[in-house]
Amino acid sequence: MIVATTVDEVRRTVRAWKREGLTVGLVPTMGYLHEGHASLVDAAVAACDRVVASDFVNPTQFGPGEDLESYPRDFDHDCALLEEHGCSMVFHPSVDEMYPDGGGKTDTYVEILNDMPKQLCGKTRPIHFRGVCTVVSKLFNIVTPDKAFFGQKDAQQLAVIRKMVRDMSYGIEIVGCPIVREEDGLAKSSRNTYLSDEEREAALVLSKAVFLGQKLVEDGETDATKIVAAMTDLIQAEPLARIDYVEAVDGLTMAPVTTVEPPVLFAMAVYIGTTRLIDNFLVEA
Ligand code: AMP
Repeated sequence: MIVATTVDEVRRTVRAWKREGLTVGLVPTMGYLHEGHASLVDAAVAACDRVVASDFVNPTQFGPGEDLESYPRDFDHDCALLEEHGCSMVFHPSVDEMYPDGGGKTDTYVEILNDMPKQLCGKTRPIHFRGVCTVVSKLFNIVTPDKAFFGQKDAQQLAVIRKMVRDMSYGIEIVGCPIVREEDGLAKSSRNTYLSDEEREAALVLSKAVFLGQKLVEDGETDATKIVAAMTDLIQAEPLARIDYVEAVDGLTMAPVTTVEPPVLFAMAVYIGTTRLIDNFLVEA
């Protein structure tokens, strides 16, 4: 596996691949990789001749007081996992390589101006999706992939990226991949490492709420408000949990909905202690 730290190196390598007629898949990540990330690499390896994973904690998507500095990092472990899953190249740039003006700042952003990035996570993370769109847009320009792979775990991010690709005419296919969970249901996340043993146990309320919501939909409940209320009650019964949001939204636009008319996304963000975790399920047609 090639380890690239500069934009030039990535460009030269991808150009050579393309001259050979090979297709390229991109898996953007912030590192501290787990089986959720690995599933995206597996999907990319199955669909493309060469796979590039980016491993970069992107400062422009973190707000003041968020966990940019403390975000977990283990590049050696990441390389081992990526290599094992057949990744061709990891792009691990410095902050200055990605943001040449210095200080992890940029004067140029890609930003969706409608309400989509203001819903759900955008309510408490107002600059988050502007940072995500900007860094993913830069990665698209650097790697020029045929396909890019994102997890349904970050459902709003996936919707925002799909919208950005349409609006900006990127000729890139966006592939959404299912949520990978621990055996007991907890969605895998790099941030799970922040949890104490007691909090790890308490964090199961997120997946339990997802499973409860899914069961209610399966049983024929069509009132999204009732489903959200049941999920909320379940989470509120856990003393270590504090709800940021539990909501039903349109699966494409992220606008709030009150009935289960597919595609509907039931999404939540919940603090367990000081750790903010997200989970969701999508009801498709
Ligand atoms: P992150 O490193 O957290 O920015 O995530 C990088 C990519 O991995 C995003 O597309 C995430 O949605 C995806 N991802 C993270 N956790 C999971 C998971 N448990 N299952 C599937 N995809 C995931």
